[in-house]
Amino acid sequence: MKRLSDIGEFGFIDLIKKGALKRPGVIKGIGDDTAVLSLNKDKFLLFTTDMLIEDVHFLASAKARDIGYKAMACNISDIAAMGGIPTYAVVSIGLPVHKPLSFALNIYKGINALCRKFNAAVVGGDTVKSDKVVVNIALLGEVRKKDLVLRNGARKGDQIFVTGPLGNSLKTGRHLSFIPRVKEAQYLVRNFNPTAMIDISDGLAADLGHILEQSKVGAILHEKKIPFAPGAALKNALYDGEDFELLFTLPILQAKMLLKQKGLRFYHIGEITKEREIIRIHDKNNQLRTIQAIGYKHF
Ligand code: ADP
Ligand code: MG
Repeated sequence: MKRLSDIGEFGFIDLIKKGALKRPGVIKGIGDDTAVLSLNKDKFLLFTTDMLIEDVHFLASAKARDIGYKAMACNISDIAAMGGIPTYAVVSIGLPVHKPLSFALNIYKGINALCRKFNAAVVGGDTVKSDKVVVNIALLGEVRKKDLVLRNGARKGDQIFVTGPLGNSLKTGRHLSFIPRVKEAQYLVRNFNPTAMIDISDGLAADLGHILEQSKVGAILHEKKIPFAPGAALKNALYDGEDFELLFTLPILQAKMLLKQKGLRFYHIGEITKEREIIRIHDKNNQLRTIQAIGYKHF
């Protein structure tokens, strides 16, 4: 008997993708941070979902407000990674029957805090009994056609950036309180032409790996340039995950301009090479070594 663990999360997703019905209006289906669907002359519709489960994505002791906040924030982060802004959400929750009402309501306090900040609205959902706390949000967003950024456009010589420090997000609790990088992404797509973008949910190495795979290129990262979050070492920045910073690539001339601007903070961490799907790291001892594009795995 073949098990899920034999093919892994991404092997499973590939099989789903092969079986998915093709339909007009799907600009990008499975394989990016969100689906991209036709909407009107100027804009695409974005559509994404993320599910959080007790003991997998948060501890049983986590505050309800933080759980709701995180569920909404990681969906908004995926919309930001496409160059878009969030619009409408449906929220499905599974709760043990003995939970206090305040717990259930506080999940929405977290969700609503982000709705207010990003002008998104909850327009529906579902409520079910469950042994463990489960929150699933599906979120729509919009992106101007010219602002759309996929994972597949990185080219040799493009420069690699992140929007903030990486690593140790679970230990420090940052994974429950991060601000999705909509402002940074909007600034980027309106003033520059990022060639590829993704939000870092599985770790820098794994998520850079997705860009490299889809763009059919490689990368060199410079350890000295990678911003580490408090308490994080290189291995944490590469493999911990749940940072929810944006990782993007820019052509070299634009990269120079981005580094000159003084408003928002962007960190230049490396460049794209032509060695397909190879990530090399130029470490602090001046050695060049190859690393694996691995990160958090569900199966
Ligand atoms: P992200 O980390 O950006 O949320 P994932 O790694 O979870 O993205 O998913 C990668 C791609 O696979 C996305 O396009 C997502 O919509 C798709 N996907 C994941 N799980 C499923 C599933 N069970 N059915 C269909 N598509 C899925
Ligand atoms: Mg993502």
